[in-house]
Amino acid sequence: MAKIILTGDRPTGRLHIGHYVGSLRERVKLQNSGTYDKIFIMIADAQALTDNADNPEKIRQNIIEVALDYLACGLDPEKSTIFIQSQIPQLPELCAYYMNLVTVSRLQRNPTVKAEIQSRNFEASIPVGFFTYPISQAADITAFQATTVPGGEDQVPMLEQTREIVRKFNSTYGKALTEPDILLPSNEVCQRLPGIDGKAKMSKSIGNCIYLSETADEIKKKVMNMYTDPDHIRLSDPGKITGNTVFTYLDAFCTAEHFKRYLPDYDNLDELKTHYQRGGLGDVKVKKFLYAILMEYLEPIKKRRTELEKNIPAIYKMLQDGSQKARAVAAQTLKAVKSAMKINYFDDDELIKEQVKRFQR
Ligand code: ATP
Ligand code: MG
Repeated sequence: MAKIILTGDRPTGRLHIGHYVGSLRERVKLQNSGTYDKIFIMIADAQALTDNADNPEKIRQNIIEVALDYLACGLDPEKSTIFIQSQIPQLPELCAYYMNLVTVSRLQRNPTVKAEIQSRNFEASIPVGFFTYPISQAADITAFQATTVPGGEDQVPMLEQTREIVRKFNSTYGKALTEPDILLPSNEVCQRLPGIDGKAKMSKSIGNCIYLSETADEIKKKVMNMYTDPDHIRLSDPGKITGNTVFTYLDAFCTAEHFKRYLPDYDNLDELKTHYQRGGLGDVKVKKFLYAILMEYLEPIKKRRTELEKNIPAIYKMLQDGSQKARAVAAQTLKAVKSAMKINYFDDDELIKEQVKRFQR
């Protein structure tokens, strides 16, 4: 069976370091590994509109921001098809058929949607499109017959929902769809990087982010103001690691090499943590270390982005070409789906023969 990746991001803002460790870094690795037959990367503008219906301009502006971040991180349109969700009309069509296979109570149990309803203050009035976006996501994934979906932990319920839809579809109508697997980052902290406030997941809609394209000054300011242990006041105070965002980020980003370069007095993160817990290690020193590490990752991304920004029309052209390619693939799946559902009236010779016979009686 062909190995196919489908994954994507909502154009609700520039991409952040949570995207980088949660999905983007993995995608680039997989893309360059050559072990996948096809890779589709989707800018999910239609999904972004489900909770931004009154602000289409925000979505419009962020399409190019996300595309720039993709290319700056190393996604290569020669190897990965990058496209815009709304340009593929087959996706909402598939979604309409899948909606018949999912109950309202099943959607209500989705923990990611529940958390997002809360964070967007939708409790009193949830847009129907937002409530049903897990079904639309199943359409996105299955349209490309994806076998693998790299993503963060918040995507686990979406993949479960997709797998259920695939099983239901295939058992009801005959096999036309592929059951996908999620690919989570192996480092657990990377599956759900918290925001700089130390509270919720880092998320564009909350704004608690370090963006990939930020300036060194902005990043420094954010790191220096980051949430640590509120009881770690004096240098000599023992400090807590759990819930200390600076250490969580170090868990996600730092390697033994970084210690050799910036903090040679320590061999590894465990030693640094032990010192912090014992007391005698200040927040500023740990934050400076984190800043230096983040800049190692982000500086080359920023540099490439600045270059890419010089030719914006080329990026729109890349998106247009990618969308055209994606449309052709989704059309094949839709055809197979309609044929399995027996709603392919005009290319089914058997149907016409049957009906001729029926009316000959
Ligand atoms: P929004 O607030 O608009 O939902 P977001 O910041 O949650 O934006 P998405 O576009 O919804 O970003 O997510 C795109 C991908 O990035 C998904 O695979 C998601 O799991 C992953 N991702 C997003 N935030 C994080 C995070 N903080 N840690 C790890 N992965 C993340
Ligand atoms: Mg999200």
